[in-house]
Amino acid sequence: MTNTKAQMSNAITYKVLSFEFCHLNFLIMLIDTHAHLTDKKFGPDLEEVIARAAEQGVGAIIDVGDSLVSSMQCIEHATRNAMLFASVGIHPNNAEQASADDLRRITDLADAPRVVAIGETGLDFYRHHARHDVQEELFKNLLRVAARKRLPVIMHCRDAYKGLLPLLGEMRGDCPNGVLHCFSGEISDAEAIIGMGFSISLGGPLTYPGNVGLREIARRVPIERILLETDCPYLPPQGKRGKRNEPANVALVAEALAGLRGMTVAEIAEVTSGNAKRLFGKMCD
Ligand SMILES: [Zn+2]
Repeated sequence: MTNTKAQMSNAITYKVLSFEFCHLNFLIMLIDTHAHLTDKKFGPDLEEVIARAAEQGVGAIIDVGDSLVSSMQCIEHATRNAMLFASVGIHPNNAEQASADDLRRITDLADAPRVVAIGETGLDFYRHHARHDVQEELFKNLLRVAARKRLPVIMHCRDAYKGLLPLLGEMRGDCPNGVLHCFSGEISDAEAIIGMGFSISLGGPLTYPGNVGLREIARRVPIERILLETDCPYLPPQGKRGKRNEPANVALVAEALAGLRGMTVAEIAEVTSGNAKRLFGKMCD
């Protein structure tokens, strides 16, 4: 296919899917609620990556920022492409580099029409890129921004549930709704998060043979609190490990969840996409 032809067929696909997106539900439509398309592993072939996702039934992708610069790029992507939405935030691993001015600018970016969430934010006590108190302060500030802007928050938590859960409890009156992405905790952590009104999202690790506990959690938590994601270019599903992950692979996560829940992929797509549309309500504005 020539470039022009490929672009034309992409444009048609996007038009059909975006029409279908908030009004009709009779086709499989998956949402990748967490992708990092601004990562340098994506670049010249981004249009093809998005077209491959559409071929797998992906109707929308949330491109998640991890710094001021990447948040601005996410908005730029989403402005150019009807399938993409943006989330603006600063990853906990970048907390020490973030200035007060970065926070102010992220707050302003939240008003852009294609921005549907605040994040990535949260706590990461696994890597040692930023002091815990600095991460906690930034996380609280971004939670306040999300609450003020009435946007959901996309949270990251790695080896930090003991810090994250009390912090969310403490912030509760001043806390937005949101999702804990790429959930990797224990069942008690999932129950606590869900008990506070949040959702969890599941990605490639659900398919890893060693992740028996995560599959048990995926079987047990209320299906209306589960979202799907890839976290691409990271964490490719089993069978794609060692390669760059991409949004098309959210279909493999849906398939794994369908097997665990005794549901069809179409049912999983309908329920999880409905969950995502409810949480990220600005997608349907
Ligand atoms: Zn992420």
